Amino acid sequence: MAVPYEKIPFAGTVPSPQKENEGMITGSWRTRRPILDAEKCVECQTCWISCPDSCVNLMTEDSPITFNLKYCKGCGVCAEECPVGAITLVPELDFKD
Ligand code: SF4
Ligand code: SF4
Repeated sequence: MAVPYEKIPFAGTVPSPQKENEGMITGSWRTRRPILDAEKCVECQTCWISCPDSCVNLMTEDSPITFNLKYCKGCGVCAEECPVGAITLVPELDFKD
């Protein structure tokens, strides 16, 4: 039986799920946090398509991308795939929040 997209867990296989799933929060796994260097970013969206947890958000007023830290598990795929090295993984212990 087909499963409607809205029933698939947030960390599933849909690139842009329409809603979050509180049962699939993966942010607490993270030991490193992705940080964007907006000066380097060329807005190619490779990080957005590459994130296995669909937690790269595109185009806010302040930044070409942002990370949904509730779900980002710090795997570093976005940083590896970024063609211009605009994403750096920084240890969580360096942050106060
Ligand atoms: S580190 Fe990057 S690829 Fe990995 S979950 Fe976080 S935003 Fe997604
Ligand atoms: S992959 Fe790199 S250059 Fe492309 S949008 Fe993401 S941060 Fe910017």
